[in-house]
Amino acid sequence: MKRKSGQNPEITRNWRPATLAVRGGSARTEYGETSEALFLTSGYSYDRAEDAAARFAGEQQGMTYSRLQNPTVEMLEQRIALLEGAEACRATATGMAAMTAALLCQLSAGDHVVAGKALFGSCRWLTDTLLPKFGIETTTVDATDNAAWEAAIRPNTKVFFFETPANPTMDVADLATICGIAKAHGIVSVVDNAFATPALQRPMEFGADVVAYSATKMMDGQGRVLAGAICGTEDFIINTLLPFHRNTGPTLSAFNAWVVLKGLETLDLRIRRQSENALKVAKFLEGRVAKVLYPGLESHPQHALAARQMEMAGPIFSLYVGGGRAEAHGLLNGLELVDISNNIGDSRSLMTHPASTTHYGMAEAARLEVGITEDMLRLNVGLEDPDDVIEDLDRALKSIGR
Ligand SMILES: *Cc1c(COP(=O)(O)O)cnc(C)c1O
Repeated sequence: MKRKSGQNPEITRNWRPATLAVRGGSARTEYGETSEALFLTSGYSYDRAEDAAARFAGEQQGMTYSRLQNPTVEMLEQRIALLEGAEACRATATGMAAMTAALLCQLSAGDHVVAGKALFGSCRWLTDTLLPKFGIETTTVDATDNAAWEAAIRPNTKVFFFETPANPTMDVADLATICGIAKAHGIVSVVDNAFATPALQRPMEFGADVVAYSATKMMDGQGRVLAGAICGTEDFIINTLLPFHRNTGPTLSAFNAWVVLKGLETLDLRIRRQSENALKVAKFLEGRVAKVLYPGLESHPQHALAARQMEMAGPIFSLYVGGGRAEAHGLLNGLELVDISNNIGDSRSLMTHPASTTHYGMAEAARLEVGITEDMLRLNVGLEDPDDVIEDLDRALKSIGR
């Protein structure tokens, strides 16, 4: 495949994010197609046996097998790396494949990990269940408490792992401070940036070493495919991640990579509009329910920090409806427009009850400790007219007597 003339790194380095989202990582075949080609192939053939040998020996450039390389997947990896400002990126089949690979590729028995307490349910399963099973100790801390990170460090601490904003508590962690503490102790910071995406927050600008994604969320953005990505230095991706990734195979399908490439073209537009819509809906709900947790609202405890490290507050927030599960489920059942769905990052407005869905697998005490109570709901605000979403919520609130 040839490179479009404009893909000279000297030039692409100066492109702005909205341009990179459309033009970054655009290899083209001899047909000069305008849209990225979809290479549905598991393998590749060689002109001569010596070429196959040379490629396996790493002496000849080229693809060998789609678990290891695929042209469509590589275009996505280049585009995400450019948007992130990272040296390199490797795509994965899901966000959880990205989180698992980003941690396991660099950890061994005897190591210690410090993680934020408020994490996506499956991420907490990694820290609470999977890592200890392989002799990796973990400590969870309140991610908003900078001193707690420093205090949790042990001589064998290898990794800090956290989300910001966190799912579903909307805790905002101080990227510069926490990544700075990690750096000072030779610890690798791994940030799950699924809620913000590089369109709103680039953790590496604040010192993060590794940034991992569920691309299923805002990057696809239209609820179609599962995907994930891990960004880091070229040294980390090639020497630490690739041996793990190539041999364990959490590889992204070319088709899903192609869908996410198309999704990235509109990421900036979608996330900005959805953030505006979310702010409008959050302002409506504030005062109408017991509490709204949205970093875009002045009432959020880390509002000022969020404004420093995020361009906008994103499409997702949580609220406490007051009461218990009956009120939360009642509100969900009263919705006509907003779907009851545990997905997020979709162009459709979706609402879920974390305690009985996304965080059902977390121990009840751990759920309550981070504020995932029975009356908590999480809302992803989509691209619909926000006034229609507000009217729907208003109707559903009235149906439970609010
Ligand atoms: C959804 C999500 C994940 C998992 O991603 P999948 O693509 O569903 O595997 C990880 N972290 C966060 C913060 C998420 O929201």
